[in-house]
Amino acid sequence: YDIATLKRANEQHAIKNIKNIIVVSSGKGGVGKSSTAVNLALALQQEGARVGLLDADIYGPSIPTMLGTQNQHPLSPDNKHMTPIMAYELATNSIGYLVEPDNAMVWRGPMASKALLQILQDTLWSALDYLVIDMPPGTGDIQLTLSQNIPVTGSVIVTTPQDIALIDAKKGIAMFNKVNVPTVGIIENMSYHICENCGHHEAIFGEGGAELLATQYHTLLLGQIPLHRSLRQDLDSGKPTVVSQPDSPFTHLYRELADRV
Ligand code: ADP
Ligand code: MG
Repeated sequence: YDIATLKRANEQHAIKNIKNIIVVSSGKGGVGKSSTAVNLALALQQEGARVGLLDADIYGPSIPTMLGTQNQHPLSPDNKHMTPIMAYELATNSIGYLVEPDNAMVWRGPMASKALLQILQDTLWSALDYLVIDMPPGTGDIQLTLSQNIPVTGSVIVTTPQDIALIDAKKGIAMFNKVNVPTVGIIENMSYHICENCGHHEAIFGEGGAELLATQYHTLLLGQIPLHRSLRQDLDSGKPTVVSQPDSPFTHLYRELADRV
């Protein structure tokens, strides 16, 4: 990074270099926000966009594991800013790069929100078409701080078809409506399970929920991603399906999603 770049970063946050900020959110944990954020970011990149991925899950960062970058640490050329960690050509940052993996972040909301704003604003993002932000669950301090301090372009809501997830997804949409962040659409994750032996599709968590939700809230159902062992395995090994299996039907689904976003 040359002096001019650093000077520019000092004068204005590097987020000025970002055209669109997309938050991947849901009311509930464990529905697949991080999995979706990672594969969506990589799919947007395959569609030709310049993409970054920020892990905003201060209490449970998953992005370093899912990208296989868990042992890397951002450098700071001026003891003030951080260079993003590059993974599969994505520019990324996460609290997970800054703390020991087994350390729990025991922070109250305001501290956690401040930490998030810092890693967002103090990262030397290059010019990006999209910064995808993987959000923590809930509708609390972090969500509010982010939407009130950062020009968020839109939110993508992830849910499973299960009632209990849909109820929380509604809360998520309502919260973003309140702070004037438009909902880009809904992604139904774990939409159906594909039997590995027989190829049979089984609706484990129910059917049609996300579609109904999209209709109720006048937004789009962006796509439906099945529950499949290989999607999980690829993320666990730090090689997300979209890059490790570019020809798989799952990759096609994510690329269709990316197109709609
Ligand atoms: P969240 O970020 O909403 O808490 P994650 O993305 O971490 O959820 O997903 C929770 C777990 O479920 C992860 O271990 C992930 O690998 C797995 N998972 C998520 N979506 C799928 C899917 N479509 N198929 C298989 N496993 C999935
Ligand atoms: Mg997560």
